[in-house]
Amino acid sequence: DGLIWLDGEMVPWREAKTHVLTHTLHYGLGCFEGVRAYSTANGPAIFRLKEHTDRLFRSAHILNMDIPFSKDELNEAQRAAVRENNLDEAYLRPMVFYGSEGMGLRADNLKTHVMVAAWSWPSYMSPEAKELGIKVRTSSYTRHHVNITMCKAKANGNYINSMLALNEAIASGCEEALLLDNEGYVAEGSGENIFIIRDGVMHTPELTSCLEGITRQTILDFAAELNIPVKERRITRDEVYIAEEAFFTGTAAEVLPIRELDGRVIGEGKRGPITEKLQAMYFDAVKGKLAQ
Ligand code: PLP
Repeated sequence: DGLIWLDGEMVPWREAKTHVLTHTLHYGLGCFEGVRAYSTANGPAIFRLKEHTDRLFRSAHILNMDIPFSKDELNEAQRAAVRENNLDEAYLRPMVFYGSEGMGLRADNLKTHVMVAAWSWPSYMSPEAKELGIKVRTSSYTRHHVNITMCKAKANGNYINSMLALNEAIASGCEEALLLDNEGYVAEGSGENIFIIRDGVMHTPELTSCLEGITRQTILDFAAELNIPVKERRITRDEVYIAEEAFFTGTAAEVLPIRELDGRVIGEGKRGPITEKLQAMYFDAVKGKLAQ
């Protein structure tokens, strides 16, 4: 049930279909966003809408795809998807993809389609995970070439590694994967950026092998407000093992403590005080309780 915005029109959920010969389904050239709406005192509010739409346009530009709508139109499409589906707390999925107008790698008559779906998605991780932290495993899959040099695009094709890594982590009894770059430095989770804290200083990988996370930027802004020093630099795997605190950030995962990496307990093995403070600020911000 419900409505999906597709190429400028609201269509019933079941009719928002694409053909099996959809180009993006075959070759993976496409990009998307993961956006969330939270219930606030003034009704549902989409958190960091402008930032997500801007990143979608940057992703499309990197992939050399032309979005046939303006940013304003896509912002309104996202608001409409929440409103017309009567949602309060929602996850939104805008996506830009090539259709089935042409086949093969050389197709030159492809049309760029855009859709926005929204649905109610109470919580990505359990309340216990948010409080006690999760177990993570370093992935045997590294970020491959395109993943690293084009990591600023939230591109469909970049998620092959994420999926393989996450499935591997879950199969070995963990809740999330940590991916390294080709040189062995820490990159990010399957759909999250990572932060560690050592001697009261926050460290997060520089933007060479991970997505420019919008939650990551929100946390960097909070750290500046709280006068917590931050270093954006390359991080090694063993630094995570000996960190005082570690956490993931992402639209879906929000601020998620990491309790263990590869069987090594991190810090006290529970959510640390800085993580707890930043997490509380994040929940206040998404609920509209902090000045934006
Ligand atoms: N890294 C990857 C690979 C992601 O897919 C995501 C999720 O969008 C993130 C990091 C976190 O980004 P954001 O905070 O913008 O959701």
